[in-house]
Amino acid sequence: MELLEDILKNNRCLKLICAAGNENVKEVEKLVYVYAMAGFNFFDICAKPDVIRAARSGLLRADKQGYICVSVGITDDIHVCKAVINSIKCNSCKKCINVCPQDAIFFEDDKYIVDEKKCIGCNKCIDNCSVDAIISEHKYKTPYTMLLPLLSEKIDCVEFHCSSENIELILENWQNIISIYKGQKGICLDRSKLGDDKIIELLNKMIKNCNDKIIIQADGRPMSGSNDDYKSTLQTVAFAELIRNANLPVYLLLSGGTNSKSTKLANEMDININGAALGSYARKIVKNYINNNDFFENSELQQEAINKAKILADNLREYLV
Ligand code: SF4
Ligand code: SF4
Repeated sequence: MELLEDILKNNRCLKLICAAGNENVKEVEKLVYVYAMAGFNFFDICAKPDVIRAARSGLLRADKQGYICVSVGITDDIHVCKAVINSIKCNSCKKCINVCPQDAIFFEDDKYIVDEKKCIGCNKCIDNCSVDAIISEHKYKTPYTMLLPLLSEKIDCVEFHCSSENIELILENWQNIISIYKGQKGICLDRSKLGDDKIIELLNKMIKNCNDKIIIQADGRPMSGSNDDYKSTLQTVAFAELIRNANLPVYLLLSGGTNSKSTKLANEMDININGAALGSYARKIVKNYINNNDFFENSELQQEAINKAKILADNLREYLV
């Protein structure tokens, strides 16, 4: 198998983001299977042993090689938060159910409840609740504590989600990750919490503390890439440009608003990237197929999902040069 380092160096990284908070092992197995069949080579999953096993099972079913990245995050980062519904405030309008991309909200015992294993913290339900009945709560242990039980598992990368205004907290957690995990590391953050100058200053500090060449995932707008247009992907490409202009010695991936137009836009703007990480959009285009309970018994469904994923992979690869 080609080394992850070489895939990155040669700008051939196609990463599927299953979502840091996605503990739905059946969905993860199917997503990894479909996208491995389509030619993706890097798989970003929740940092839990059963989710890692599900991803490995997806690769095995596809009979493909792929690298596994586990995602951890700090308190402020939405990737490691989950929605919680206040049933007293809720007026049962059902808007949240209709907008949830993960089908994570259900009705039980006369109230609406969030299935924590399915929720990925995208906040779409919160944005659509007119009575403010939903809040986002941090639900995971610290990155260090999440990683401890995973050191005996075979993982290929640890990604640190660190969008926060609290620079001290970011650096403290980063130091803890470096002290415990010696393999490939990645950082995923967006520009919303810190200004451009502070982001570059922070990244310089994080890089300085780490001997290896790290992956930066330029998260344009977290979990926003549901639409396949240039507007959705503009922020990630602009953020990637900021990082490239700072001449940081890092591998650079687009994410957060990525879709089939992302690599083309980066190419047209002459921004050298090492690959793209696809989440919301990649999950959305295969959702109707993988939601079927008999997916792994139905080769026609599998092929249709793989065909959709392949079109996306081909579009992205065409402009990865
Ligand atoms: S959108 Fe808000 S008010 Fe409507 S069902 Fe969901 S939680 Fe309740
Ligand atoms: S809309 Fe997003 S944050 Fe809300 S329940 Fe669904 S996955 Fe969770």
